[in-house]
Amino acid sequence: MEQGAKVALLSPEQLKKKFPWINTQDVALASYGLENEGWFDPWLLLSALRRKALSMGVLHCHGEVTGFNYVTQEMVTSDGDPVNFRRIHEVIVQAQNSLETQPVECMAVVNAAGAWSSKVAEMIGIGCGSPGTFQEFKLPVEPRKRYIYMFHCPNGPGLDCPLLIDSSGAYFRREGLGGNYIGGLSPLEEEEPDHSNLDVDHEYFQQKVWPLLAYRVPVFESLKVKSSWAGYYDYNTYDQNGVIGTHPLVPNFYFACGFSGHGLQQAPAVGRAVAELLHNGQFTTLDLTSFDFQRFIFQQPILERNIV
Ligand SMILES: Cc1cc2nc3c(=O)[nH]c(=O)nc-3n(C[C@H](O)[C@H](O)[C@H](O)COP(=O)(O)OP(=O)(O)OC[C@H]3O[C@@H](n4cnc5c(N)ncnc54)[C@H](O)[C@@H]3O)c2cc1C
Repeated sequence: MEQGAKVALLSPEQLKKKFPWINTQDVALASYGLENEGWFDPWLLLSALRRKALSMGVLHCHGEVTGFNYVTQEMVTSDGDPVNFRRIHEVIVQAQNSLETQPVECMAVVNAAGAWSSKVAEMIGIGCGSPGTFQEFKLPVEPRKRYIYMFHCPNGPGLDCPLLIDSSGAYFRREGLGGNYIGGLSPLEEEEPDHSNLDVDHEYFQQKVWPLLAYRVPVFESLKVKSSWAGYYDYNTYDQNGVIGTHPLVPNFYFACGFSGHGLQQAPAVGRAVAELLHNGQFTTLDLTSFDFQRFIFQQPILERNIV
C-alpha cells in the first residue's frame, strides 16, 4: 500500500452491501483501499525502467556473475580477534552464449540477484566463515516456488472487483475484462514444493486453492482454469523482509534482495534508496538503515507478517 493511501474498514454488512458476491460468513472486519492502489504488469514496468535507464546512458551488459576478484585487509578488533575486510575490484562475468569469463572492473557491486542472491553473496565469502566470525552469517534468502493460476468464470465479479486477499491467504484479482481472473495461495512451510524446476502443480489448485476461493466467492464454484505459471519468491527465511545496504565486512558490496514476494511494489523506492546510498554514502530520501545486513548479526528481525 502506498504511503498516504486511504483505507475504509468495512463491517460484514457494509462489505456485503458493496460486494454482494462475497460470502461474509466468518468475516469480522474487512479493509478496502479507496485510492492510490491498483496493479500493473511487472514485465512492462521492468522494461519501461530499463529503457529509461538506457536512454539516460546506462550501459547494459547481459551475463552471469560467477565470482569476484578482491583484496583483503586484515585488522584486529579491540578484543584482539582478527577480522578480514574485503574490497571487490572486479566482477567475473560469463557473457551470454559464451563459455569464457571476463573480469569487469567495478567501484561497487549491488547484489540484486533475487532468489539467487545468497549464491552470489557466497562468491565473496558471505556465509562461508568459520563459526564465531561475522563472515559466518549467511544471507538468508532462498528460492521458493509459487504458482499463479488464470481462470475463467463468466458470471464472476465485474469491473468493481478489487484485488481480494482472503484471511486464508488465497487471493485473486480480475485480469482484464471478460470474466478472467488470476489468483493463488502460498503453501504452508511443510508443503513447500521442490524448487529445482518451474513445473506447476495443478492438483494444488484443485485441492487447496479452489475450495478457498469458492468459499469466499460462491460463483467461483463454476470457474475453469485456463492457464498457469510458476515463479520464484526471493524468500528471506529470517524475517521475510528486504535486505538493503552494505555488508559490514565488504563495504563496496550492496544488497537489494530478499523481498519475499513483495519486491515489485517496493522496487522503485529501493532503487532510489540504494542509488542514494551509493552516490551520497548515506540514505537520503528514505532511511532504510534498519533493513541492513547487520540485523542478522545483532538479531534484530523486522518481521513481515503480511506475506501473500
Ligand atoms: C508468483 C509471484 C507473484 C508475485 N506477486 C507479487 C506482487 O503481487 N507484488 C509484489 O510486490 N511482488 C510480487 N512478487 C515478487 C516480485 O516478483 C519479486 O520480489 C521481484 O521480482 C524481485 O525483483 P528483483 O529484481 O529483486 O529480483 P528478480 O526479479 O528475481 O531478478 C533477479 C535477476 O538476477 C539475475 N541473476 C541471478 N543470479 C545471477 C548471477 N549470478 N549473475 C547475473 N544475474 C543473476 C536473475 O536472472 C534475474 O534476472 C511475486 C513473485 C512471484 C513469483
